[in-house]
Amino acid sequence: GRKFFVGGNWKCNGTTEEVKKIVSTLNEGKIPSQDVVEVVVSPPFVFLPLVKSLLKPDFHVAAQNCWVKKGGAFTGEVSAEMLVNLGIPWVILGHSERRLILNESNEFVGDKVAYALAQGLKVIACVGETLEQRESGSTVEVVAAQTKAIAERVSNWANVVLAYEPVWAIGTGKVATPAQAQEVHSELRKWLHANVNPDVAATTRIIYGGSVNGANSKELAGQPDLDGFLVGGASLKPEFIDIIKSAE
Ligand code: 13P
Repeated sequence: GRKFFVGGNWKCNGTTEEVKKIVSTLNEGKIPSQDVVEVVVSPPFVFLPLVKSLLKPDFHVAAQNCWVKKGGAFTGEVSAEMLVNLGIPWVILGHSERRLILNESNEFVGDKVAYALAQGLKVIACVGETLEQRESGSTVEVVAAQTKAIAERVSNWANVVLAYEPVWAIGTGKVATPAQAQEVHSELRKWLHANVNPDVAATTRIIYGGSVNGANSKELAGQPDLDGFLVGGASLKPEFIDIIKSAE
């Protein structure tokens, strides 16, 4: 089976004091065992060493991005090698905020995913449609194209978690209904079955992100093709523990 996966994407938030507070809330929370749920939190780069040093081993950490190739003369970037060097196991790539605000293309995201995996990182690769794309009926086409750019560059999917995050649901309070999420997750799994292989389709975790909170996570978690969450706003709050518990 696919182990339930809950990621907390802190985005560009936090001070040292706030980060310490969030970490102690997590460390004190009663969560299911690591056999039941894999939990990964993703603070901004500058807090990664602190968070990694303070968190209990029940939790793992992820960077929110990394550079597309080997480090060097790329001012402001952080390389995959550096994350490996610091013992950071995970990285989030292709988040819609980076695709849309920083103009990251499908190809660029695919290159990043392939490079990060080759360095030994595990990747949370994000896909998702805008409201305009959903309303024009192109949701499946959009997420398939985003996934295809990854699949063309990646042969081993063992260290990939696919995150379906509809842009219209991110930070809006407009969570996808369980049926809406299930429909796209199922289409993504069918796409992997047809275009990668049946084993990758059966084993790859597809998690949902977009206005997930402690009140709506349980029902979403009941959907057959939904294997966890990527949580933004609520991952900064104590209710993140409730979301983790929806794995049970
Ligand atoms: P919210 O949970 O704040 O809607 O953000 C979702 C997200 O973008 C996680 O990566």
